[in-house]
Amino acid sequence: MKRKPKDFLIAFLLVSGLLIFAGCGKVERYSMTDIAMGTVTNQTIYSKDGDLTLAVRDIMLELEQEELSWRIEGSEIAQINAAAGSGVYTPVSDRLYKELGILIKLSEDSGGAFDISIHPVAALWNIDAWAAGENLEEEENQAAEINLEEQTAEESTFLDKQQSVIIPSREQIALALSHTGYENLSLTDSSIMLPKDMALDLGAAGKGIACDRIAAYLKEQAVCGAVISVGGSVVTIGKKPDGTPWQIGIIDPRDTSSFIGILYLEGENFVSTSGDYERYVEVDGVRYHHILNPATGYPADSGVRSVTILCDSGILSDALSTACFVLGVEEGMALAESYGAQALFVDMEGNISMTDGMKQFFKEK
Ligand code: AMP
Ligand code: MG
Repeated sequence: MKRKPKDFLIAFLLVSGLLIFAGCGKVERYSMTDIAMGTVTNQTIYSKDGDLTLAVRDIMLELEQEELSWRIEGSEIAQINAAAGSGVYTPVSDRLYKELGILIKLSEDSGGAFDISIHPVAALWNIDAWAAGENLEEEENQAAEINLEEQTAEESTFLDKQQSVIIPSREQIALALSHTGYENLSLTDSSIMLPKDMALDLGAAGKGIACDRIAAYLKEQAVCGAVISVGGSVVTIGKKPDGTPWQIGIIDPRDTSSFIGILYLEGENFVSTSGDYERYVEVDGVRYHHILNPATGYPADSGVRSVTILCDSGILSDALSTACFVLGVEEGMALAESYGAQALFVDMEGNISMTDGMKQFFKEK
């Protein structure tokens, strides 16, 4: 399915409201499909208090512009990166400070499989261009988790397969790698400093952070329930007016128009998937994807095609899915369990394996 940017604009304008009388009393169903944080977002909100979709959209835009985007001059991450090598500490907001703490701990706990300082290598591979906004017109249908209730297939990222791809040389990768390493960050209790040529990239956790912010906001509103997806990260809160569980489809990594199965969830949940189908290019039959092994500088080659994490935190679901993808089934499973998270892996043969706790929620197709 090909979609043009204007289709999204239309989708954005067609925020729909539908009155429902059910278990939550009188609620209205609002939905919106849009682009934010460089990906497709989808909202379904059962609200007792009018349309909240624009407010949720603003949360994502503000998070991107003021805090997370390394591209937007003036964002906290852009300022930190711009000061790399200057010897000057950059103050960080309380929220970012907390998030950096969580992510640096995960870097340690994953033995470096997760590393927020991966940016010099990601930039060398030009990963961002594989998913850049200007490629929207040529995008493939790279679906992320799909809120089945919405019954719409969504694109999580966009790839112009026609663009020329240059595979970096081993020397270039070695040089870029020498500028990475979370252990070389200097963090005080309110500021951070990076060595020369290092740069942060919170792309592996940002969509989950957005889910945390959205959940916190919606829980303070008169909402019966909501399901929001930000690319490959999904949050559910509350309940559906008809009392049935939320249904989150897990994409088949080799047929992204279909699911390998469904997660049936009640109440508040955070679900993130990292997959080699989200952003990639193929050169001479080799798939180069966007999840990098910080030990080698090459796309992770741990024998998995996708990892889905279910837990009670957006930032952790997102960051763990990336970390577990790099670690592979055995080590990834152990890491997820050490965080009290549930994990589901699809390996290169299409086999599914999961933590025991995931089994009660997952139904294979
Ligand atoms: P995700 O799709 O959540 O797995 O995040 C992948 C994105 O995170 C990439 O596009 C990079 O910007 C960044 N990234 C890639 N590999 C890593 C890694 N090993 N640790 C942290 N961030 C990464
Ligand atoms: Mg992630």
